[in-house]
Amino acid sequence: MDAAPGDMRKGLHVITWGCQMNVYDSARMTDVLRPLGYRPVDTPDAADMVILNTCHIRDRAAEKVFSELGRLRVVKDARATQGRRTVLAVAGCVAQAEGREILARAPFVDIVLGPQTYHRLPEMVARASRAAGAVIDTDFPAEQKFDFLPDTQAPQTPGGVTSFLTIQEGCDKFCSFCVVPYTRGAEASRPVASVLAEARRMVDAGAREITLLGQNVNAYHGAAPDGRVWGLARLAEALSAIPGLARIRYTTSHPRDMDDALIAAHRDLPALMPFLHLPVQSGSDRILDAMNRGHTAAQYLELVHRLREARPDIALSSDFIVGHPGETDADFEATMQLIRDVGFAQAFSFKYSPRPGTPAAGAALQVPEPVKDARLQALQALLRTQQDAFNDATVGRTLPVLFTGRGRKPGQISGRSPYLQAVHVDGPDSLIGQITDVEIAERLTNSLSGTLVQERAFA
Ligand code: SAM
Ligand code: SF4
Repeated sequence: MDAAPGDMRKGLHVITWGCQMNVYDSARMTDVLRPLGYRPVDTPDAADMVILNTCHIRDRAAEKVFSELGRLRVVKDARATQGRRTVLAVAGCVAQAEGREILARAPFVDIVLGPQTYHRLPEMVARASRAAGAVIDTDFPAEQKFDFLPDTQAPQTPGGVTSFLTIQEGCDKFCSFCVVPYTRGAEASRPVASVLAEARRMVDAGAREITLLGQNVNAYHGAAPDGRVWGLARLAEALSAIPGLARIRYTTSHPRDMDDALIAAHRDLPALMPFLHLPVQSGSDRILDAMNRGHTAAQYLELVHRLREARPDIALSSDFIVGHPGETDADFEATMQLIRDVGFAQAFSFKYSPRPGTPAAGAALQVPEPVKDARLQALQALLRTQQDAFNDATVGRTLPVLFTGRGRKPGQISGRSPYLQAVHVDGPDSLIGQITDVEIAERLTNSLSGTLVQERAFA
């Protein structure tokens, strides 16, 4: 919705790339600018301020940002001819990593801010309107940004049924390939009371499911009102006591931080969904060591075994990188074997892409691009077979589905199974926000279709 002409409100357009944490951060930046009169608008032409919230995790991130900035410059110049100013801000991990480079290549940018300084955005906007030059803030300030951000206004997804809540930021693990410890800074957890308060507000606003977010979410260690430090299992237990909150998920976890309490929580907490994204990256001990992951393939398999003992139906997901420097055919085969041994419900896989400043980027034995391509294809074909097999195994079963919105076709609604599968049925809008049993009838390419069990009972 555009700000109405003539009113004192200002338009804000945020473009978000990358992970759910960036989606969350974009919502928080919108919140922080609200007291200054900024309201979301749908297009840059209607915006007095445009924020690019960027991601640096893989290749060509910076190039995408520069080409978007090129387009925005045209908009900014056109608005200027009508006497309207546009504040252009670049936020997120590309801003953190390439702050000065951005200002050198795109001097029409007004603000560059890293992920740790969003709470200072109003001050930066004020400085940008006073100053002739650009404002840059890519510090890792001592104060925690969470302490300075205003309360969440509402759940962030349309329909408001599922919400994302960042509970942890940054990472101290320094995997060889990854920019996160450099762009997001040291690991920090939000205090328990603030997480619980935000979760309650989300539930009051209609959320039935909350996904807890963090780069290393299961490393969570938040100061609690009882004077202790709570891990993720204890936090999930407290969250599951919030009336109306039916489902809890968390992402992304590191295998090393999967402790006994969290494994037991998958057995004991019905609200904790039987789906876990637990990236392993590689199945070769040599490469896991080169990646600085801190565990072996056998330790990962043991962890999977313990998780399945605790929650036999748990669906597993992972991230894989092919072509890390030094990866041989035998290393790659070890990854394929690990995949066969585990059986994943879904997974994300990437070709290794050198990130400047990370140890692997300068390593010898970079793997040629065509080899990476071939490995990625083989790996994705295997993962696809496993994903299809997992989904096929749910056909004929009745699953509780949390409906989150309308489907693509008229009369259709869609939602998620406990295993995070997308499910569509023909059904009334009144079921959106409800958990209802669905008999799964068919597997489609990336989703399932089914029929409402309730409706069949009345038919
Ligand atoms: N903290 C999570 C973990 O340790 O598994 C991962 C967070 S990272 C934002 C998401 C995924 O991006 C990683 O799991 C990895 O597979 C992928 N990734 C990170 N850096 C990469 C790189 N340089 N090249 C290719 N993929 C990369
Ligand atoms: Fe990056 Fe995850 Fe490794 Fe941290 S644990 S350095 S976020 S891949």
